[in-house]
Amino acid sequence: MDILHYVWFFLLKLLISQSLMENAKKQAELDKKFMQLAINEAEKALKEEEVPIGAVIVCGERVIGRGHNLVETLCDATAHAEMQCITAAASTLGGKYLKDCTLYVTVEPCIMCAGALAWSQIDRVVYGADDPKRGFTTVEGRIFHPKTVVDRGVMREECEALMKNFFKGLR
Ligand SMILES: [Zn+2]
Repeated sequence: MDILHYVWFFLLKLLISQSLMENAKKQAELDKKFMQLAINEAEKALKEEEVPIGAVIVCGERVIGRGHNLVETLCDATAHAEMQCITAAASTLGGKYLKDCTLYVTVEPCIMCAGALAWSQIDRVVYGADDPKRGFTTVEGRIFHPKTVVDRGVMREECEALMKNFFKGLR
């Protein structure tokens, strides 16, 4: 390879890695923006004296579903934020599958919600705080659809603070 080829190759590599970095940065900013909307949902739950968990589902960059925990309000043990959100998003889309969609939820989904998200075939799930007691990671084996990407820890401190303050207030 002569020197000119080498220089071209190097520049091209630099350009590609830069655009990858920019994409990752843009995605991280979007993740924070949408997690903040999930936190806003969690705050609605808090006002209704529910465990403060909130979720939004995003398609492209459009919010197509919102939901917060309504277990006490609806007197329904299955009325988790994710379940409300999946129903809302499917109704917006007019279809049961949530392909090309991302769910943002303030706390790690439980096994039930992870199962429901698997049925929806959602592309990506992003959660803030871990739930070491009831989260889906407490069971072995895959619950989500094999194609679903799962990311954790986005605005973790804010999501954890909501839960901690709520349970502190109960004591
Ligand atoms: Zn759940």
